[in-house]
Parts: sequence; structure tokens; C-alpha cells
Amino acid sequence: MNIIVCGKVIPASSVTIEIDPNTKRMVRRGAPHELDPAAASALEEGLRLTEKHGGAVTIVTMGISDATIGIRNALAMGANSAIHILDDALVGSDALGTAKALAAAIKKEPFDLIICASESSDSYSGIVPGQLARLLGVPPLTFAKEIAVEGNKITIKRQSESGYDVVEAELPALVAVTSGINEPRYPQLKGIMGAKKKEIKKYTAQDLGLGPEQVGASGARERVLTIGRPPARQGGKVVTDEGDGGIKIADFLAELKVI
Ligand SMILES: Cc1cc2nc3c(=O)[nH]c(=O)nc-3n(C[C@H](O)[C@H](O)[C@H](O)COP(=O)(O)OP(=O)(O)OC[C@H]3O[C@@H](n4cnc5c(N)ncnc54)[C@H](O)[C@@H]3O)c2cc1C
Repeated sequence: MNIIVCGKVIPASSVTIEIDPNTKRMVRRGAPHELDPAAASALEEGLRLTEKHGGAVTIVTMGISDATIGIRNALAMGANSAIHILDDALVGSDALGTAKALAAAIKKEPFDLIICASESSDSYSGIVPGQLARLLGVPPLTFAKEIAVEGNKITIKRQSESGYDVVEAELPALVAVTSGINEPRYPQLKGIMGAKKKEIKKYTAQDLGLGPEQVGASGARERVLTIGRPPARQGGKVVTDEGDGGIKIADFLAELKVI
């Protein structure tokens, strides 16, 4: 089974993210980067599936040159090969531009299954997986908290508000996993050493047949109009228990229409 994992490499969680006031975009260059923990979960799922059914996992990332560290980490975890979509012409791409670049790179590979995280940990729009499935013409199975593959059939438990739904599709398909689906493995020394020898294919926008009308700032259909801090939290309501604390809490929750 050939599995492609789409994994974003993002500014490390220890870094305070800065927004450029002119472009209203995240300042990525120069910030220490890491493989998105959500992408690590998607990769872990891919590795477990190939350990069970055989096959290979390729990690695909679109990002600046600082993303290499996260790609190496994915290879050290066990990905067999990697694709880095790297080109200044792609800077400023919105979600659809990102999905177009990922789809064009994936189409160059044989694939049975694509695994994404439901949302990234930095921009978390959560729209790339659906766009990608549409561009590749494969069914999207989203919010997967469990995946099973049998022959040509994939079955997921799709997280819902009340529990889960069982969703099935035929391969090839795309699955977007929830962040709690697994505990990603830590790379071992052997994996870290082996990662140095593994291939990282590099593609530019031109290699992928994408022009400025499709990707980059000029191809972006989304515009960030304004950025601001969320409103300050209101003070909480203090309930003094005078023997009727439970009733007061229940009344309060009923007022909020929670119960
Ligand atoms: C006007 C505009 C300009 C922007 N300019 C830039 C820019 O210059 N540089 C930049 O990095 N971002 C830029 N962004 C943000 C960029 O659009 C998002 O990072 C990108 O579209 C992915 O969105 P997301 O992280 O919200 O994806 P989500 O939909 O939350 O991601 C879900 C999953 O899709 C996959 N995925 C998403 N992005 C990637 C990726 N890059 N590589 C591999 N897999 C991926 C992963 O599996 C991820 O977990 C810009 C956004 C806007 C609106």
C-alpha cells in the first residue's frame, strides 16, 4: 500500500508567533521549525498501516527551507521518502493554492491512501484536506479517530458530538485524522541516522505546472483583512453554596441552554 502523508512543518510551539503588520501573515522565516504534532499523528497512522499491510509512506510538505528539519524528523520516525515543495513563487499561497500544489505533487506518485491531519496547529483552517480530495478526485473521510484497511476497503470511526459514525470507502481515498488518534513515536537513533540517507524530492511551482494565477500571493483568493486580539475574558460568576449550590448551578446552566 502506497501512503502519502501531508504534513505541515510549523514554527515550534516554544516560539511566540509574530504577525507581520503589513502582510498580516505569520512571520515564519528565521523561526525554529518543527514537524506539526498533528502531522506527526497522521504520519504515525501511515506507519502503523504499512507495518501491518506492507508498503511505503511518503511525507509531502509545502514550506520554506526551514521546513527541512521537520521533514528529516518525519523520515527519522520511519517515512520512506519525502517531497518538499519549495519555491519563493509559492509564498503567499492561500489554502486552495496550498491544496493545488500538494495535489500536483501527489499526482506524480502512485498512491492508495492520503493521510492528513484534520487541521494544522498554526493556521488550523481545516480546509486543505477537503480541497485536496476534490482536486485528486478521491473520497474524503474526515475526523477519523480510528482507521482500518481491509483489501480495497477503508473504514474509519468518524468522531461525532455524541460518539462516532462508521464511514467506509474504496481506495484510493483521503483520510483526515483527529489529533488524539494516537501517540506518535519518537525517532530512535537508528532512524535519525538512516534519515540522512533517505531521498527528499524537491519541486518548484513550475515543476508542478502551477503558475502565478493559481499559487502564491497573486493566485490567492483569500485575503486577510484584519488581525486583532480576542476580546478579554469576562469575569466568572461566583456561586456561593448555602445548601442550594447544586440548584443554582443547574439554573445557571439552564439559563445558558446547556441543559
Ligand atoms: C492571503 C494568505 C496568504 C498566506 N500566505 C502564506 C505564506 O506565505 N506561507 C505560508 O506558509 N502560509 C501562508 N498562508 C497560510 C496558508 O494558506 C495556510 O498555511 C495553508 O493554506 C494551510 O492552511 P492551514 O494550515 O489552515 O491548513 P489546514 O486545512 O488546517 O491543514 C489541514 C491539513 O492539511 C495538510 N496541510 C496543510 N498545509 C500543508 C502544507 N503546507 N504542507 C503539507 N500539508 C499541509 C496537513 O495534513 C494539515 O494538517 C496564507 C494564508 C492566506 C489567507
